[in-house]
Amino acid sequence: MQRLNDYVIPFLREAEGARGRLVRLGPVADTILARYPYPEPVAKLLGELLLVAAMLSTNLKQEGIFTIQLRGNGPVSLMVVDAAYGGQLRGFAEVKPEATWEKPHYSPAEMIGEGGYLAITLDPGEGMQRYQGVVALEGETITDALLHYFTYSQQLDVLLTLAVNREEKGWQAGGFMLERMPGEGGLSTQPTDEQEEGWRTSVALAGTVKPEELLDPLLEGETLLYQLFHEDGVWVYPPQPFATGCRCSRQRINDLLLSMPLEDRADMVVDGEISVHCQFCNSTERFSPEEMGLSTDQ
Ligand SMILES: [Zn+2]
Repeated sequence: MQRLNDYVIPFLREAEGARGRLVRLGPVADTILARYPYPEPVAKLLGELLLVAAMLSTNLKQEGIFTIQLRGNGPVSLMVVDAAYGGQLRGFAEVKPEATWEKPHYSPAEMIGEGGYLAITLDPGEGMQRYQGVVALEGETITDALLHYFTYSQQLDVLLTLAVNREEKGWQAGGFMLERMPGEGGLSTQPTDEQEEGWRTSVALAGTVKPEELLDPLLEGETLLYQLFHEDGVWVYPPQPFATGCRCSRQRINDLLLSMPLEDRADMVVDGEISVHCQFCNSTERFSPEEMGLSTDQ
């Protein structure tokens, strides 16, 4: 069997009232983070968002799309990552060219700007209710902002560890999330002493995961989970593979352009062609005025 390098493994510790997801991104992280010459702190933050999008998108149904966005007026005005049903990941960041990068670490607020925010959107597909949660970018790391989101927006008790690094072979990313499961009567019910104890043990064990372990592609995810939890057991589900993928296509852009009024299309002609750039893929599709139903002298 071919070994997977980009995957999420859901796991469950039922008796302890905890479940979670382990994520590894190798070639996918490297492809997306190396697509633009990002400053290192920006690439790391983008890698962290890729991990979170992969982890939180495993329950998507067909046509579903999970999106995380950071927006603000700082050196990085926009960062977008989305995951589509079936494990398609994509993402990019807009970095102001005049920004200078001198420190090894920047907080998300320093990069995105004061007043910047994190938005998580779940679009389950056509005809279904879209969900969006927004939190301020507080804290030293994106994990702080995400924990804030889980606690206040989702009422979830979560432990989250993210690691992204440029290794010899390229960018590598790994993450781990542990979530307290709702009891019989939901999260509002008081947990039993046993459940409380089980959760505390799970958190303590999960807290021993080292970034090196998350980043080591030779340490299989299943092995890592077994090492952590073998004493009182863990139910490990099959890995779900992830790949880079974009929903842009020449046909789709063509149809979009043709749906626009003729004069708008004419305004888009520059140097005798209409070109449309996809920031996710960093690729450009070019159309002649004739293809767009315009005469060549426009
Ligand atoms: Zn694209």
